[in-house]
Amino acid sequence: MYNINKVREDFPILQREVYGKPLVYLDNAATTQKPLCVLDAMREEYLNVNANVHRGVHYLSQQATDLHEAAREKVRQFINARKTEEIVFTRGTTEAINLVASSFCESQMQPGDEVLVTDMEHHSNIVSWQLQAMKRGIVVKHIPITDDGRLVCCHNTTTDGSVCCDGIATYLTERTRLVSIAHVSNVLGTINPVKDIIREAHAHGIPVLVDGAQSAPHMKIDVQDLDCDFFAFSGHKMYGPTGIGVLYGKEDWLEKLPPYQGGGEMIDKVTWERTTFERLPFKFEAGTPDYVATHGLATAIDYMERIGLDNIEAHEQELTCYCMEQLQTIDGMHIYGPLSPLGTVPSVKDAVVSFNVGNIHHLDMGTLLDRLGIAVRTGHHCAQPLMDRLGISGTVRASFALYNTKEEIDTLVAGIRRVAQMF
Ligand code: PMP
Repeated sequence: MYNINKVREDFPILQREVYGKPLVYLDNAATTQKPLCVLDAMREEYLNVNANVHRGVHYLSQQATDLHEAAREKVRQFINARKTEEIVFTRGTTEAINLVASSFCESQMQPGDEVLVTDMEHHSNIVSWQLQAMKRGIVVKHIPITDDGRLVCCHNTTTDGSVCCDGIATYLTERTRLVSIAHVSNVLGTINPVKDIIREAHAHGIPVLVDGAQSAPHMKIDVQDLDCDFFAFSGHKMYGPTGIGVLYGKEDWLEKLPPYQGGGEMIDKVTWERTTFERLPFKFEAGTPDYVATHGLATAIDYMERIGLDNIEAHEQELTCYCMEQLQTIDGMHIYGPLSPLGTVPSVKDAVVSFNVGNIHHLDMGTLLDRLGIAVRTGHHCAQPLMDRLGISGTVRASFALYNTKEEIDTLVAGIRRVAQMF
């Protein structure tokens, strides 16, 4: 395990106060804070290297290109992709999903063909497909969830605590062309058994996109082991800068899909008669990339790897279990998502705890906690269909990162008790 006090020193923002109270930052599922090494790396690049990548013959351009392509290699290693050709830089998870939605539907789907998502998706994995439904007449279907926030087809728990998936086949039809599914729910914290789902979808010849926005920050991702066809995640949720994300795609799929946007960087030769496109991954990277952010992301990955993905996961699991235990001691507490079996291996819940207390509106709870220095998220968390399913307008959400502590959870719990007394 790592030295948490030392780690917290890497994030100066954690030392600040709000409303005269020490900041307790528990909104990490929305975005994480950035360690000094990431800020330093980006400042250093702007100060001493800055030049556009891939284009110049000059020294600085070459140096910036080297940093940018080294970042791609870093990301490749981080998720264990076969090749850097399979790593496409995007602005984030949202753009990565939109890229696949657009290019996949254009080239692989006919009107009436289906994409299968779930009831616990973030809007980015719903609306991207709905746009294609409007444009191309595809159909968006969704797997329902149980009352405790697991996919209905995957809620059987075996005696060793592992989750077995026995039924996504029920939701596959001869028109299903793609399954697109969150690895970890940003509201419920549910860890979906994506490896089982992928195996089952593949048995029916159907590719799978995994939305890894809430998993990549918290657990070791191995895209070859998962055997997913696409995997999307965002840099800013894993200690990297905003505006940079990743789409992993199996080379075969990326070769088959048409470009998403047109412009510089993505072309081979342009004439008025006919334009040909660059090789992978550049075919999907139109325009000047955020090459400083890619370097920042690579530095964030280095940082996480220095601490150790296993250590991060263990620490955050401990925080999640502790938070769940403590919250359940509060009168009127309703926690959404899997309640048990916590602490089992593999875990079914990760780093996100959503709740409401009695009849207290989530917005009131969040606003009053804020006055105590505690930053939580309130509202629908970009998952309105999930809110409809749960029959609520929103939740209060506490979400953890590698720098959070049990003492901060104690402050949260004391804060909730204090707020609850006011009602
Ligand atoms: N999917 C999930 C599960 C998320 O939690 C988020 C961010 N809240 C997104 C997609 C979208 O990520 P971004 O806004 O970074 O593109």
